[in-house]
Order: sequence, then structure tokens, then C-alpha cells
Amino acid sequence: MDLKTAIRTIADHPKPGIMFRDITTLLGDPRAFRRAVDELVQPFAGRKIDKVAGIEARGFILGGAVAHQLSVGFVPLRKKGKLPHKTLSADYALEYGTDTIEMHVDACQAGEKVMLIDDLIATGGTALAALELLRKAGAEVVAAGFVIDLPELGGADRLRAAGVPVQTLIAFEGH
Ligand code: AMP
Repeated sequence: MDLKTAIRTIADHPKPGIMFRDITTLLGDPRAFRRAVDELVQPFAGRKIDKVAGIEARGFILGGAVAHQLSVGFVPLRKKGKLPHKTLSADYALEYGTDTIEMHVDACQAGEKVMLIDDLIATGGTALAALELLRKAGAEVVAAGFVIDLPELGGADRLRAAGVPVQTLIAFEGH
């Protein structure tokens, strides 16, 4: 069973030139979904992880399953304005303008070891903002896992250069 074939590619979505890597087909395939979660967890089995943090929205689905498998709590990192309690925030650059992600100020305790999860890493802008946010909260990001890497965009290497061990399961060429 090949995880790569479980992912559907939609050309020119959401705009011309982007090959959108759609994981809904993987999520809908029970063997592929379990395999992806198992492979994300496997290098960290037996290591001390206190929480999993997932990036809205696809990182919630995968991160929730990873947290359940590790028997640890889950921290949602959300788009600005969604979380009801006091938040910490981090901005990151988009192609046009900036975006902001937030987490609850009390979602992690200082010194907690956190694993960061999202479906895909491209430029790494989103993941680096998530790292900044978790570090602001005093957490130690001990691992990051992504089902898909777009290595030409360099995000996984940027995250590694920021001191985070990164695990990716499959790679696609291009953007
Ligand atoms: P980046 O911040 O550039 O690493 O982009 C990562 C975020 O954008 C992730 O939350 C992805 O879900 C989404 N993303 C970026 N590029 C793609 C793509 N080609 N297909 C699907 N999602 C993407």
C-alpha cells in the first residue's frame, strides 16, 4: 500500500500553477489513514512527548489521531479570532500580506515537550509561526511531522535549521 497513491492532486487549485495535494482521499481510506498516523508516531514511540499541537484545519485531523495514539493531550493552533480564551499569537508572511495563528495562553505548560503536526510543509512559513508560538508559551518542540513534503520549497530544512527534528512521509516535486 503506497501512501502517495492515496493522495489526490488537483491541478490549478486554488489558483493557476498550484498543484493542490488533497489528503481527503487518504483520510477516507482506512488503511492509508492508519498507516500515515502510525508512520508519524513510529520514530517517537517510547520518547517523552507531553502534547501534540496541530495546525488548523487538516493538522487537527492528523494531530488528533497522533495525540490519541500517543495517549497525550492535543493543542489546536488556530486562525486569528477563533479561540475563545486569552491567546498568544504569531504572524507569518503569505504571498500577499500576512496571516496570524493563535493558541490559548494556557494550552501548554513551560517545559512541556510538544510534537507539531500538519498535513503538508511547503515554504515552512506556517510551521515556523507555529514553532514561534509554542516557544512563546515555553514549550519545547521536540518533533514535527508532516505527511507531505514539497522539498523544493525548503520548509522542512528551514524547520530543521530552527532546531526541530522533522519527519515527513512522502515528497512531491514542485509547488
Ligand atoms: P507553508 O506555510 O508554505 O509551508 O504552507 C503549508 C500550509 O499550506 C499547510 O497548512 C498546507 O496544508 C497548505 N499548503 C501549501 N501548499 C499546499 C499544496 N500544494 N497543497 C495542499 N496544501 C498546501
